[in-house]
Amino acid sequence: FNEVPSGYPEPGKTTVYDASGTIDLDSVALNGSVLVKVLYLSADPYMRGKMRDASVQSYSPAFTLGQPITGLGIGKVLKSEKEGINAGEYISLPLIEWAEYTIPPVEILPYHEKIVPAKGVPLSVYLGALGMPGRTAYHAWKEFAHAKQGETAFVTTAAGAVGLFVVQLAKMQGLKVIASVGSSDKAELAKSVGADVVFNYKETSREQMDEILKKEGGVDIYWDNVGGSTLDVALGNANSRARFIECGMISGYNNKNAITMQNLMRIITQRIAINGFIVSDLYPKYNSEFNEIVPKWVLEGKMKYTEDRTQGLEFGGEALLELQIGKNTGKKIVVVAEE
Ligand code: NDP
Repeated sequence: FNEVPSGYPEPGKTTVYDASGTIDLDSVALNGSVLVKVLYLSADPYMRGKMRDASVQSYSPAFTLGQPITGLGIGKVLKSEKEGINAGEYISLPLIEWAEYTIPPVEILPYHEKIVPAKGVPLSVYLGALGMPGRTAYHAWKEFAHAKQGETAFVTTAAGAVGLFVVQLAKMQGLKVIASVGSSDKAELAKSVGADVVFNYKETSREQMDEILKKEGGVDIYWDNVGGSTLDVALGNANSRARFIECGMISGYNNKNAITMQNLMRIITQRIAINGFIVSDLYPKYNSEFNEIVPKWVLEGKMKYTEDRTQGLEFGGEALLELQIGKNTGKKIVVVAEE
């Protein structure tokens, strides 16, 4: 991480690929930790929020200038001095360095998860549908949706890692799904998993979005990944006792310009429940259920997913930017090495 961006993160400026460091894999000291060969890294929207001045407080610490960025990733353990983690195992870690090889600080090792991929399921899927984004969708839907027969859900970034999962959850419960996406290919993808009404928000004015939601009878569950004017239009069309699941607000991550909210009063008049959450809060409650159910759905093809792979750590900066500008379709993965 090289420089705090004011807008979109620029590869080569905000993030730089530094190939100067080397470690001697045979003699490096582990000091009670493990040596990991990094295989897959997860590029996630929240990482933009960590590209900030360290003095600005948030739920997740800022990246440190001059240090490798960190995030969710999967690697193979080459050597271990940590009881319970063995050479040859695959593990995921929450704060893995964006590097080819890494020795994680011992403090983060308790948060590792062993990954034994189900037959036919690529390891990288444990960063997507079977990882944090899948859990985000599953856990928060379970906690906040309270879906009832005949209701309508409006899902934003419906072709993304979280959004595509949410569309399928809503369809499993028999809801009508309105989906917004940023391209015609993404619209096709959202339709292919059952979204009933799909529109490209880039070609839809605020007034047209309002008309679409009105025509469909309003919104009972709003899954917000974008915030901004879409949230405002959703508020304007919320049915009585609607549930708003406030997952993300990516429209503001790279652009801090305030938008004018016209419909905030509807929170009161429509008795809307606004539910903000950070997925890790919900892990203790839903992780075992998720581990029991969702891998089976994925294997049976009941829960579809897509991945958008960037090959090579040297293009990690591009991967982070592509995610923010919507060039990804599905879970953005940086492939550092296949094995
Ligand atoms: P996605 O795979 O959905 O990728 C991000 C997508 O955001 C892009 O592909 C793009 O799709 C869309 N996007 C980018 N800019 C804008 C914009 N200005 N307006 C509308 N859409 C935009 O990412 P994830 O599935 O990983 O994450 C989705 C959301 O969920 C994010 O907001 C993220 O921060 C949030 N999240 C929250 C968590 C929590 O604990 N609360 C945990 C995980 C994720 P398009 O082409 O459709 O514009």
